Amino acid sequence: MIYQRTIAKNVTVTGIGIHSGKKVTLKLYPAKADTGIVFKRTDVPQARNIKAYATEVGPTRNNTTLGDGADAIHTVEHLLSALYGLGIDNVYCELDGPEVPIMDGSSASFIFILKETGVDNLNKSKKFMVILEPVKVEYNGTWAMIEPAKNLIIDSTIVFAHPAINTQREVFEFSCENYIKEISRARTFGMLKDLDTYRRMGLAKGASLDNTIAVDDYKVVNIEGLRYTSEFIRHKILDTIGDVSLLGHELAGKITTYKSGHYLHNVLCRKILDTPSSYEIVSANSLTHETREAHRLPQIIGGLTTDSM
Ligand SMILES: [Zn+2]
Repeated sequence: MIYQRTIAKNVTVTGIGIHSGKKVTLKLYPAKADTGIVFKRTDVPQARNIKAYATEVGPTRNNTTLGDGADAIHTVEHLLSALYGLGIDNVYCELDGPEVPIMDGSSASFIFILKETGVDNLNKSKKFMVILEPVKVEYNGTWAMIEPAKNLIIDSTIVFAHPAINTQREVFEFSCENYIKEISRARTFGMLKDLDTYRRMGLAKGASLDNTIAVDDYKVVNIEGLRYTSEFIRHKILDTIGDVSLLGHELAGKITTYKSGHYLHNVLCRKILDTPSSYEIVSANSLTHETREAHRLPQIIGGLTTDSM
C-alpha cells in the first residue's frame, strides 16, 4: 500500500518573489486525505482557496500562476515540484503576498524544509493518473507529448543559441530519491541581456545571482559556476514536474518535451484532462511493483512508519 502523504506539522518559510521582488511569508499546514495542494492569499480580503489544478492556471509568462484575479498566486512551480518530489499530496499553503518565495531558484530549499518538517502518511491510498494513449500539443515550433509508461519519465530537450547552453537533452526517470539527488538542486536561469526587458514588463524584480544562474553573451556569470553540468536542462525537468503535478495525481506516463515552457505544459495538462480516453485514475494498489517502488521515500525522510511506504 502507498498512502497519501501530508506534512507532519506546520512550517513557515520567508523569502522574496523572483518577479515581484516582494518579501513574502509562506505557511504550510498539514491537510487531510483528498484535499490536494490548496493555496490562499492572506493579504487579500475574500481571497479564495485555489486548488493546484491545471484548469486553475492563469498567466504563464515566465512562471506558473494559479488564478488570474487580485488573489492570484504566482510562481508556484518550484514548490509544487518539491511536493511532487516527496510524494506529498495534501497541504494547505498560505501566503501574505502575490508570489511563492524563490529561495535559491531551485526546489532544494523546499526539499530541505519539508524533510526537516517531516512527512506523514494519511489513512488512504494514493491515486495515480495512468496514461493510456498518447496526447500531443504543439505551439510555435515547440511541442510536448505524453504516452503510456510504467512510471513518470521525462525526456526533455532545450535549445538556446548560446555557447553555454546550446542544445541539451536529458531523460529522467522519476523516483523520490532520484528527484532529490538529480533534479532538486537545479536553479532557474536567465540571460543578462533580457533582464532590462523583463524588468520593463514588471518581471524578475527579485532576480539576483543568489537565486538565478545568469548568463552573459558567452558564459555563466555566477562565480560558483554550475551545480550540475546539465543544470539548465535539469531545471527544465524540475519545472515540468511542478507543472504536470497540476494534473492532481502522481503520474505513470512518459512526457517528451521540445523547447517547452510553462504555457505548453499547461496546454498539455488541459488536453489530457479534456481527453478522458487518454487516462485512468487508479489506486496505488493496482500499480506495478516498479511504480510503487519509485514512490517510496528514501530513509532520510523522517516521520513515516516503515510498513506504509
Ligand atoms: Zn523554474
